[in-house]
Amino acid sequence: MYLRELAAPLSQIKGAGPAAIRALAQAGITTQGDLLAYYPRDWEDRSRPIPLGEYRCFPAVCTVVRVLAHDWFGPGAGRTLKVYIEDESARGVLVCFNRPFLEKQLLPGKYYRLWGRFYYKFGEIQSASFEFEALEQGWAEKAPSGAEGSEGAAYTSRFGAILPVYPLAAGLTQALLRRFIRQALDRYASELEDELPEAVLLRDGLLRKAQAVRSLHFPASLEELTLARRTVIAEELFYLEILVGIQSLERRKGGRRKTSASMRTAEGASFSPLQRRLMERLPFTLTAGQRDAVLAINQDLSGPYPMARLLQGDVGSGKTLVSFLAALRTVEAGEQAALLAPTELLARQHSESAAALLEPLGIRPAFLTGNIKAAGRSALLKNLAAGEIDVVVGTHALFSRDVIYHKLGLVVVDEQHRFGVTQRQAIMAKGDHPDLLMMSATPIPRTLTLTLFGDMAVSVIRDLPPGRRPVKTHLAKRSGENRVYEFVRKELAAGRQAYFVYPLVEEGNAGLKDAESMAKRLAQEIFPGFPAALIHARLDEEEKRKNMDAFRRGDIRVLAATSVVEVGVDVPNASCMVIEQAERFGLAALHQLRGRVGRGADQSYCFLLYADPQPDGSGALTEDAKARLRVMMESSDGFVIAEEDLKLRGPGHIAGIEQSGYLKLGLADLVRDTEELAKARLDAFSILEKDPELRQPEHRRIALVLERAPPFARIVL
Ligand code: ADP
Ligand code: MG
Repeated sequence: MYLRELAAPLSQIKGAGPAAIRALAQAGITTQGDLLAYYPRDWEDRSRPIPLGEYRCFPAVCTVVRVLAHDWFGPGAGRTLKVYIEDESARGVLVCFNRPFLEKQLLPGKYYRLWGRFYYKFGEIQSASFEFEALEQGWAEKAPSGAEGSEGAAYTSRFGAILPVYPLAAGLTQALLRRFIRQALDRYASELEDELPEAVLLRDGLLRKAQAVRSLHFPASLEELTLARRTVIAEELFYLEILVGIQSLERRKGGRRKTSASMRTAEGASFSPLQRRLMERLPFTLTAGQRDAVLAINQDLSGPYPMARLLQGDVGSGKTLVSFLAALRTVEAGEQAALLAPTELLARQHSESAAALLEPLGIRPAFLTGNIKAAGRSALLKNLAAGEIDVVVGTHALFSRDVIYHKLGLVVVDEQHRFGVTQRQAIMAKGDHPDLLMMSATPIPRTLTLTLFGDMAVSVIRDLPPGRRPVKTHLAKRSGENRVYEFVRKELAAGRQAYFVYPLVEEGNAGLKDAESMAKRLAQEIFPGFPAALIHARLDEEEKRKNMDAFRRGDIRVLAATSVVEVGVDVPNASCMVIEQAERFGLAALHQLRGRVGRGADQSYCFLLYADPQPDGSGALTEDAKARLRVMMESSDGFVIAEEDLKLRGPGHIAGIEQSGYLKLGLADLVRDTEELAKARLDAFSILEKDPELRQPEHRRIALVLERAPPFARIVL
């Protein structure tokens, strides 16, 4: 039996009443198998004595103490008990918040086994978080129970073992989970079958599955725990890569659609006629990065399989143009291209560029969002279905149920991290294995791309269009805002435009500035001579469009906004980006926002305004906020910033991962475990290469696991 096949009901467990079962269900645990796969988030080592005197060197103390005396502090009924204790090394105090009843349990003169987290406060070594167990014979009983090696005792005692610490949910306690999991282990662990191929298990000296699961919950030693973790992580990553590999095989098996195959001549690494015509009409030449990306795309499109390519390029690197060039190639093959954007604002902007660039070539573009009114919409859908539209740009509306394509040959997903796997699937399902181009300004570490995007090819645009000057970034305290406004006024007077970005839409508490009131102030008090407008997500689309259009034309000179302007917005004449309360934005957002300026030939500026220190002299910024602002000052490279963001926010927060629901790993962490991931990939791919159907006897186990208990939902792009 594989762990995921273990479906024994929780009701078999002694002590599991309806309330406990309900609480477990809330945490996603409905079988004993789920229970065993509910891995600890941490472990507490109570297997070795750690004397009170060494509390500074260890996360917790594990010792035997004698209670010396009681004391109380605080007023009347709510008073708090203090219990003075000592072990052989030091004296300390247990602060019993909300536990006055401990007066009856921790008796002066008696001995207790004690586990607790201690800190130094008010001249004492204190703990408010501790557990204890009464001893009969005092110091004589000092050796932790269970240390003699009786497994049973180690499981049940709160001492003398390395104890699992589980993530808790409402109605669950550590004690309950430990008890239940203990029972499930005793009953079923020995029946668990290995899932990793025997050769990998032996080569890497990993544990058998049964032992790994046991040791993960109740390890006998820290070494055993390490090995158990290694085993489980290796297994998770191996199967993840097996699925990635299988998906890649399947995509290739599908082969190329006939319609386009006929079109794909042997032109190889060169531009197509329509692409050349567009390039001739551009007022600039492609950057080397854009060129390489388009040529790689052309190669894919003349290759034997549908394209699956991820295009990464920093903000402003010109990815949109690359996607238009790709679309031309598709249109030449007699197929349609769809460009999916996450916001209406961005979709509209793309559709305007598409009209300007593609229409003159005789291409028929269209724009489709949820806000298009009934009459226009049905005409549009009819044309789309009839193949009278070549390139359609839009939002989620592109994959609404009633949208039918004549021959969808290329799907472009802009700002791909804004879309979940199911949405990407929905748009792909509108065609017959269409080519896929995903675009992202958020750089993702290589090992992760390999896994998140399966076998996707990756193009990276590393250069920005020539003539761009790096944006000058300045930090300013809020109290110095007038100097910033003064500076912006000069830029406006010189014909430039400015963005002002706020964390809030409307007036809130805490003296935070908001876009709405600031739009008024900017227009009336600060820059009276220059037309200003407001834009944020809650404005209706018509209003948003009106204001954005006016800003793009230059009729509006100052735009007060929330981070809706973060993605994609492109107004080259804007030279100032003022982010107020910048400490409230994440690093990725700050970088995206700054990327809105510096898109023309003129010098551009970004001002990061942050809160002044408090009157008492303390700083107003958290360490994280300071670090974010520092990174923004030091770097303008999206790749560097993404790495820093990763360090600050920790793994699991990379844009695009949260949404990809299929990646429910138990212990493995794709950011931390990169070496293991690379190894798993190598193993998985070499197995699939030799034996794609997993028919050979030594691969039978893999086939069985996938058949009987697949570890992940199917990954389909
Ligand atoms: P992003 O990669 O952030 O999506 P965009 O596609 O919005 O970037 O392009 C940013 C701006 O750069 C646009 O105004 C676009 O017209 C311009 N641009 C694109 N390619 C070039 C180029 N090769 N030379 C000069 N300007 C370019
Ligand atoms: Mg873009």
